[in-house]
Amino acid sequence: MQFLSNLGLQGFNYGTSTGQQTLGSESGSEKMTSYSPADGSVIGEVSVTTRDEYEQVIQAAQQSFETWRMTPAPQRGEIVRQIGDALRKHKDDLGQLVSWEMGKIYQEGLGEVQEMIDICDFAVGLSRQLYGLTMHSERPEHRMYEQWHPLGTVGIISAFNFPVAVWSWNAMIAAVCGDVCIWKPSEKTPLTAVACQNIVAEVLKANNLPEGIFCLINGDRTVGEWMTEDERVPLISATGSTRMGKEVAQVVGKRLGKTILELGGNNAIIISDQADIEMAVRATVFGAVGTAGQRCTSTRRIIIQEKVYDQVKSRLLEIYEMIRIGNPLEPDTLVGPLIDKDAVEAMQRSLAQVKEEGGTVIFGGEVLEGDGYENGLYVRPAVCEVKNEYEVVQRETFAPILYFIKYDTLNEAIAIHNNVKQGLSSAIFTLNMREAENFLSHRGSDCGIANVNIGTSGAEIGGAFGGEKETGGGRESGSDAWKAYMRRQTNTINWSTELPLAQGIKFDV
Ligand code: NAD
Repeated sequence: MQFLSNLGLQGFNYGTSTGQQTLGSESGSEKMTSYSPADGSVIGEVSVTTRDEYEQVIQAAQQSFETWRMTPAPQRGEIVRQIGDALRKHKDDLGQLVSWEMGKIYQEGLGEVQEMIDICDFAVGLSRQLYGLTMHSERPEHRMYEQWHPLGTVGIISAFNFPVAVWSWNAMIAAVCGDVCIWKPSEKTPLTAVACQNIVAEVLKANNLPEGIFCLINGDRTVGEWMTEDERVPLISATGSTRMGKEVAQVVGKRLGKTILELGGNNAIIISDQADIEMAVRATVFGAVGTAGQRCTSTRRIIIQEKVYDQVKSRLLEIYEMIRIGNPLEPDTLVGPLIDKDAVEAMQRSLAQVKEEGGTVIFGGEVLEGDGYENGLYVRPAVCEVKNEYEVVQRETFAPILYFIKYDTLNEAIAIHNNVKQGLSSAIFTLNMREAENFLSHRGSDCGIANVNIGTSGAEIGGAFGGEKETGGGRESGSDAWKAYMRRQTNTINWSTELPLAQGIKFDV
């Protein structure tokens, strides 16, 4: 496959790197194999980071922080600009690899790389806008202001479903903030991470930068735990399941480190009887079956006003009949495979539970067989009629299952909407301004993302991304999410000849 050699990936790849240098030796290190969920073939092997290599990485990161933090932020931005250009050059190859290793369709693979390019552009602008406020002091001839300093080493733990974009949201913002980073990608998608590291290495080399600014370590959760337990890593940004987030929060919290947690969602769309139904249906399909239902923002529930319930149901089922499922690199495919056998089994278990709890699977759900589907990872997206309170509806099944729920009044719809533990993304389809504003108001959606006449998935990088409740509360990407990667310092400067105390306290010595 041409894209593999264009990205510098051979059969065996080093999974540990401090930037330009790769660590580990082919003979000695443990290996993990990357398989394509498209056809089960081996794509390549990656070495697992050893404890010794981890130590080398940490030390390189700490040393490079000394120089990187003293590099003016706009110059750091210039490096990120070059990384954005390198990604433009490799967009097609990296998009194909993302598709081949993760299983999302090629268009979505390209979209993911575009998101990386977009965040680079955003970070370049940000590198001249790391603003602090100036305050008026209560004391005469005093000045107060705040400034933002880099934190140090940022540990990035990422999930399989966005194998490269999530890293870039963190790493590019962290880089302009003056931090150095260590990335532990998902063990299910190690090669995309090595490809990114190769792309970044070209830029680091061309600029003669020290080792340690962008580092990569590889392995399963054990390798992630080395970072979460490590006091030399002041910030852990972790993306993944709520189970993982709860573990990470406890370990990092115990040492009073900082976390950004981006965890599971249980996202819903409310479809009002005053909606543009065709638009609502199209957005629902993209949200529910895009990336085979393996986005944190995938649409899992639609809450439909009872007067339009039958209309929405029949139109959706018509479209579901036509969805093309198959090889993610084929241009006609809309839904690729699930990531692995565990994901297929989890989907089957959830569908069985729907029935046990009294719901109905009204479409799909089966594991496909036959030509092109031999590896057992292709499923037909499912549609179920359920009640919101079912245990199975309350949890995130990371697969294309869409739950239909009926409502009468908008207040009822919002109550159903919010009555889950997760709080990531949400949407309402309505042409009624009062309904839309209600949904966006403080008595409306309780999610980090709330949209009107746009589905739950496919966020732009300009906004802060993240969610409430069991989604973890973290914010990444745009807006002022950068503040989490820096420490705030408040400075008061006395330029008078007196030493007045705040609050008028008298303390004569
Ligand atoms: P996962 O939780 O199994 O793994 C995520 C990462 O965490 C992996 O790199 C894994 O090795 C690591 N990990 C697991 N346990 C750990 C521990 N105790 N300490 C340190 N590291 C640990 O998740 P996944 O299956 O790869 O991804 C799917 C999940 O990610 C879904 O729940 C999805 O909603 C969520 N997700 C959330 C967002 C978001 O922005 N909110 C984005 C993408 C994915």
